[in-house]
Amino acid sequence: MKELRNKHAFIIDMDGVVYHGDTLLPGAAEFVSWLEANGKKFLFLTNASDKAPRELRQKLSRLGIEVPKENFYTSALATASFLRSQCPGGTAFVIGEAGLINALYQAGFTMSDVRPDYVVVGDTRSYSYERLEKAVHLVLEGARLIGTSCDISDPTENGVVPSTGALISPIELTAGRKAYFVGKPNPLMMRHAIKRLGCSREQTVIIGDRMDTDIVAGIETEIETVLVLSGVTAREDLARFAYAPRHVAGNLAEVMAAMTS
Ligand SMILES: [Mg+2]
Repeated sequence: MKELRNKHAFIIDMDGVVYHGDTLLPGAAEFVSWLEANGKKFLFLTNASDKAPRELRQKLSRLGIEVPKENFYTSALATASFLRSQCPGGTAFVIGEAGLINALYQAGFTMSDVRPDYVVVGDTRSYSYERLEKAVHLVLEGARLIGTSCDISDPTENGVVPSTGALISPIELTAGRKAYFVGKPNPLMMRHAIKRLGCSREQTVIIGDRMDTDIVAGIETEIETVLVLSGVTAREDLARFAYAPRHVAGNLAEVMAAMTS
């Protein structure tokens, strides 16, 4: 793991790596200081689509880590960028929060519930039968169905909660259509991140806590992978997967220790 210190760019998942809920995880602040002191490029990459980079920056700031908003990349931004490339100046009906709606506006999209090009679903706590019904009708009329990520659930401090993959499934089932998902493990989001960092794959590493999103995305993008056990994955889970991360560490503090020893 020592060779990681020679990498130029670090892609870092947030939940389960940097924090859990409102608790900073061990080594997170020191790791960011090390990245900055050593002139490394880094990007916080999250499948959460409800918050804008500005809000994520504020959250980290509250936890004691100061990072510019340009260092955050969400599945909402990746979705907006993907849709802009597919259908510039298009229209969307959105079930999601401000982080997703703002990203779509900034990508040149207009919100519409009359024959939109897309129905886009992201993380949200305001979820209604009425919006679901509308979404199903729009998809049946020809709107393409997009999810910001296929995550079924998210661990929170209050227990597990439904995520975008679960929220979109009633629309898929009722309309009889499969959604396209942009967030991790879709390598598209990783390629966006690498492009943003302006580094080659060989110079880049991803640090994440989920095998089925972070690690598989890293493997499929052919960048070095580090699994930390501070989130949803336990060491005994590793045997269940057909692929393996390059490195495994308890948390960012252990990654730091191994890298700088
Ligand atoms: Mg995570």
